[in-house]
Amino acid sequence: MSYRDDAAFWACPHGQDARHGCVTCYEESADPNPDLPFWDVAIWFTSDQPIPVKALQDVHRHGRRFLLDKLSAPHIYLLTGQARAERGGQAVAGVIGFLVHNRHVVDAFTVKDTRAVRMSPAADVPSGERVWP
Ligand SMILES: [Zn+2]
Repeated sequence: MSYRDDAAFWACPHGQDARHGCVTCYEESADPNPDLPFWDVAIWFTSDQPIPVKALQDVHRHGRRFLLDKLSAPHIYLLTGQARAERGGQAVAGVIGFLVHNRHVVDAFTVKDTRAVRMSPAADVPSGERVWP
């Protein structure tokens, strides 16, 4: 999986590494261009501190269909969200940007894995097919 270490592959339009999140991508996703592809994004991460159950439950209040779940393994969490973006990397940067932007929910975290599934129907991509990474 050498392409995963390719900095250009992971760079968002603002020059941030998508795996570290980008607050600008997150803010731009609040008012997306409706012509952009729609992505279903999942982020697996660990948190240095346990996240209170109430904080997990409050995430959905931020809208945009964000959901934060605790997995059975200690300190491993799954954040899912949806975003419109040109590329999957940008969609990932925006969803992780949500975490960066909301330090009161998650103070220090380490992204372990990401997935972005393109949901928009497109001529050459069946809806829901996993195309990135
Ligand atoms: Zn960005």
